[in-house]
Amino acid sequence: MQPRWHPLNTSFLTGTLLLAVVALPLKLVYQGLNWSEVLVCLTMVFAIGTAISAGYHRLFAHKAYKASLPVRFILLCLGAASFENSALKWASDHRLHHRHVDTDLDPYPINKGFWHAHWIWVMEGKDIPLQGVADLEKDPLVMWQHRNHFKIGAVVALIPVAIGLATGNFWGHLVLGLIVRIVLTHHTTFLINSAAHAFGSRPYTDANSARDNWLLAPLTYGEGYHNFHHMWQWDYRNGAQWYQWDSTKWILNALAWTGLVSHFRRVPGAAIRRARLAMEEKQLKERLSLSSPGVALPVAARLASARARLDQALASFQERRDAWDAKKAEWKTQRSARADQWRATRAEWKGALAAHREEVKAAWRDWRAARLEARQVLAYA
Ligand SMILES: [Zn+2]
Ligand SMILES: [Zn+2]
Repeated sequence: MQPRWHPLNTSFLTGTLLLAVVALPLKLVYQGLNWSEVLVCLTMVFAIGTAISAGYHRLFAHKAYKASLPVRFILLCLGAASFENSALKWASDHRLHHRHVDTDLDPYPINKGFWHAHWIWVMEGKDIPLQGVADLEKDPLVMWQHRNHFKIGAVVALIPVAIGLATGNFWGHLVLGLIVRIVLTHHTTFLINSAAHAFGSRPYTDANSARDNWLLAPLTYGEGYHNFHHMWQWDYRNGAQWYQWDSTKWILNALAWTGLVSHFRRVPGAAIRRARLAMEEKQLKERLSLSSPGVALPVAARLASARARLDQALASFQERRDAWDAKKAEWKTQRSARADQWRATRAEWKGALAAHREEVKAAWRDWRAARLEARQVLAYA
C-alpha cells in the first residue's frame, strides 16, 4: 500500500516552513533587517514566480505563446528553483487539472478541501504517471531540465547565499534569500489551486470552481483571474482587461518588442463580452425564477429589452468594423489612390465607427442599469 505521506515532499514543505518561522524572528532580533537582503529576496521571489507563471504555466503547460531558446532556457532554470518539480511533470499534472477539474481525476480538486488543494496533495505525492505531454517530451531542453531540475534549482536558489558570502552577510541572505524565498514561492503558487478555486467571482463560467480574485493577482504575478483562465486556458493573458493586474502579461508584452517571444494566443474581446453577458443573464434568471410572477414579469421584460438593444448595438458595430477592415484591404491594393482622398475616406469611416462605439457603450450602460434595477426589485421582493 502506498504511504499517505511522501517523505521527501512532506519534510521539504514542512521543514522549510518551520525553518522560516523559527529563523526569521531570530534573524530580526539579532541582526535586524537591511535593504539589500529584502531586495535580493523580493527579486528572487518575483523572478522565480514569474518563471512559473510565464514558463511552467503559460508557455509549457498551455502553449499560449512561442518563446526563443534563451527565454525558454532562463524560464526553465528559474522555474527549477521553485522546487515544484520539473516543467514536464508540472505541466502533466496541470493539464490533468484542467481536463478533469473538480473530479477525482483532478490531482488537486477543491472539493477535497482547501488545504488538500493547497499543499496536502503535494505532501501525499501520489504517483501520477506523466500523461498528455508528448509534445513536451520531444523538446530536448525540457527533457534536460526534467533530468536535472533539482541540481539546476539548487544552483539558482543558492545565488543569494553566494551574494551573502561575497558581501559578508551570509546568515541574512541565507534566511531571507533562500529559506523565506522558498516558502513564499511555494505558497503563492499553491494559492492558485486553493484560494482561486474557493474565493472570488465567476464572471465567465460556473461550469467549474475556478474564481477570478483581484486580490490574489498581485501575489501570483497575474494568475488570480482563474475563472477567465479555466474558460480560455490557451490565452497568454489571465487578466485580460487593461485594469487587471497581470505582471506576467506585461513582461511578455515587453519581451515581444524585442522579438524574443511571439505568437500570442488571445480570445477575441467579443467572445469575452458574450460569455460575461451570458453569465449575468443566467444569474439574474435564476433569481427571477424564485420570485412571484407579479415581480418577475416586468423585471424580465426590462432586462429583455436592454439585452436586445445591446445585441443590436454589438452586431451593428461588428458589421461596421468588418466593412471597414474590408475597405482598408481594398485601398491597400489600389496603390494609385490619392493620399488626400484616402484621408477623407478614413476620417469618414472613423467617425461612423465612433458613433457605433458610442451606441455600444450606451447599450452596455442600459444593460447595467437594467441589472441594477432587477437586483433592487428582487432584494425587496
Ligand atoms: Zn485551476
Ligand atoms: Zn492553467
